[in-house]
Amino acid sequence: MSAKSYIFKHLWLQVIISLIIGLGVGLIFGDEVGIGLDDDTLDKMSTYLKIPANIFLSVILMIIVPLIFASIVVAITNLGGKEKLKTLGLGIGVYFVITTTISILIAITLASIIAPGSILDLTALQKTHDLSEADLQVTEGFSLDDIPGAVSNIIPRNPILSYLEGQMFSILIMAVIVGLSMAALPRDSVKSLLDLLESIQKITLYILLMAMKIVPFAVFGLIVGMVAKVGVETMAGLGVYMVTVVLGLGAMLLVYAMIIKLVAKRPISSTFSKFRNPQTLAFSTASSMATMPMTLKTAEEDLKLDTRVSKFVIPLGTTVNMDGTALYQVIAVFFLAQLFAIELSMLSILVIIVTSLLASIGTPAVPGAGTIVLSTILITVGIPPVGILLLLSVDRILDMIRTMVNVTGDLTASCAFDQITRDKS
Ligand code: ASP
Repeated sequence: MSAKSYIFKHLWLQVIISLIIGLGVGLIFGDEVGIGLDDDTLDKMSTYLKIPANIFLSVILMIIVPLIFASIVVAITNLGGKEKLKTLGLGIGVYFVITTTISILIAITLASIIAPGSILDLTALQKTHDLSEADLQVTEGFSLDDIPGAVSNIIPRNPILSYLEGQMFSILIMAVIVGLSMAALPRDSVKSLLDLLESIQKITLYILLMAMKIVPFAVFGLIVGMVAKVGVETMAGLGVYMVTVVLGLGAMLLVYAMIIKLVAKRPISSTFSKFRNPQTLAFSTASSMATMPMTLKTAEEDLKLDTRVSKFVIPLGTTVNMDGTALYQVIAVFFLAQLFAIELSMLSILVIIVTSLLASIGTPAVPGAGTIVLSTILITVGIPPVGILLLLSVDRILDMIRTMVNVTGDLTASCAFDQITRDKS
């Protein structure tokens, strides 16, 4: 195979090439080593450079609601044996909570030992980001009052509204209820809807696979804008914080390796090497949702998992299982608490564990969502949410890495449950 056709066949290679070219072009436009374009010109240029990324994101958002709904309903209906449905349904819930809790504990340990926020000088940051004293006011955090409301609203009263507003969690609950009901009814009476949903699933998957062709261009545009505008120096200022997050994400990959070996009973290196395509796509798009078609394809074609398992675990995991996001959010909370010299009590730490677990479940699997949801956790603990501004300059790169971990977590879960449910019919 010639080098050219090799590159055309491998998305990960195209992405790496785009990253390198983007980095170079970004440096040329920036003022550290390059020609130093002014902010206005850079802003204008960024809006154009971001066009491929925006188009790609729009395609995902256009397609994702019907895709998730159809995938989950079809998966549950096809699960067949009641025993298998029970093991999968209950088991996967417990599994997701356990792995996310492990990632949160890793985050707490690392953030406490490394203490990335104690190293930085708040007043210098305050100046570069133009923040006033009022912005940094520490507020009263944590109230139990919101819990009843949140629990009562779990079932969507108006599913059409949930669809229109793209509330993924409500759509998920609705899909599970419809799927369970369809599984309980005789096949004949649900067949026509099942066929329709299967077609929807195939069509939406096809559209997404087509849209992936623009991913390398999207990566290029984003990287050029980031490097030229933010500059390598500012990014390096937050280096210790970034290293802490990356170390934590690396530790989580080790946990997955152990699950693959001990629970899924598969060889670690050859299984991990099959994860490469979805991992690259997750890294490039920073969206587990956009990666989902590729994740499903890998699970079925490369890992040869039982499709009844993969079609259930992957769409569900994409929406609710985000270990990388939870880990990042906890380190960010600790980082900002240390930066603002806020003492975290045992109760606050407990609250952080619970809210970040829930927050990672509720975070939409699209770029940057983890950072937006982070503000909820900060408010709950009483840390000024404006602190997020400090993290934004390096967020994209961390988002790319944590999304890769999120997707690896979903694939690992599918491998584990393929093994666990193997003997159940
Ligand atoms: N981008 C992440 C994902 O899609 C979510 C996040 O922002 O953490 O998995």
